[in-house]
Amino acid sequence: MKSPLRYVRPNILALEPYSTARDEFSGGNISVWLDANESPYENGVNRYPDPHQKLLKERISRLKGIPANQIFVGGAGSDEAIDLVFRIFCDPGKDNVIAIAPSYGVYSVAAATNNVALRTVQLADNYALPTKELLAAADAHTKVMWICSPNNPTGNAFELSELELLADSFDGMLVVDEAYVDFSDKGTMLSVLANHPNLIVLQTFSKAWGMAGLRLGMAFAAPEVAELFARVKYPYNVNAPTQLEVMRRIDEGVAPQVSEICQQRSMLLAAFAELSIVERVFPTDANFVLIRVADPNAVYDYLVSRGVIVRNRTRLRGCEGCLRITIGTPAENERVVNLLREISK
Ligand SMILES: *Cc1c(COP(=O)(O)O)cnc(C)c1O
Repeated sequence: MKSPLRYVRPNILALEPYSTARDEFSGGNISVWLDANESPYENGVNRYPDPHQKLLKERISRLKGIPANQIFVGGAGSDEAIDLVFRIFCDPGKDNVIAIAPSYGVYSVAAATNNVALRTVQLADNYALPTKELLAAADAHTKVMWICSPNNPTGNAFELSELELLADSFDGMLVVDEAYVDFSDKGTMLSVLANHPNLIVLQTFSKAWGMAGLRLGMAFAAPEVAELFARVKYPYNVNAPTQLEVMRRIDEGVAPQVSEICQQRSMLLAAFAELSIVERVFPTDANFVLIRVADPNAVYDYLVSRGVIVRNRTRLRGCEGCLRITIGTPAENERVVNLLREISK
């Protein structure tokens, strides 16, 4: 197997990580900390947080079954991990990346801010993975391929076997963004991470886990790649309350909420399919449903006028006529169905 280090920018490979005041001593019997110019008055947040997020990573390691030295956590959500992938692997103005389309908007924003060319490949019929076209889009300067699965905004997850084939065939880093994986029964690429050193899996606590306000994202990768994330990240990139709160909420779990959303999803798919204004309901493995209607702007405006906001995706190529509707509480879902029923008359 090829080492993933061959895809890394030379300046990043040569980088000496910033060493924080807290790197040299941790634990032991030290009780006086006069090394970091903090306030000495204890108020719960006067100390810098653990820059290595050791306890949090150990907790995530148990949750996901992935060793702690293969985990990166970011305090600005997975968006932080997305930006770091560009900064670790892509030389601005020289390298390029490939992504499926339509997909998550942050890949193109991060590509643009890093001055890296983004080559998009439209999904095939029924939003299937265009494996051959994706591989054909690569050249000697292609460092990263972005696949979102389940994909936002189409909702479908790709088969693990197809994604593994991409990882094996692509001469670069394959990033699989699994923000919605907790709602999918197609499985996670974490199960094959050990076999693919060029694979990076992104997950987040923002969706199924109900912690969008805390902004904690994760990347899982080979140890040598995870070490690069640790080198390039901002030193104290996850604040102390977030580290504690996420650990507490992992212990609490979210299984009942996730199963209710999956039940509501079946209900919504059936209800939308009955409506005359709905031309198509796309299959979904996520906590949202993509529907196609004849006049998306009119439907969108009507819902807004009744106090309900959905995502109008009609201007996105490949999503013409489409609205993306997040699955809410049973009462919220009933409301959106009733409103759509009203204008179906
Ligand atoms: C919501 C979402 C994320 C999560 O972003 P955070 O920054 O972790 O909140 C990542 N990828 C996709 C495709 C998403 O839809």
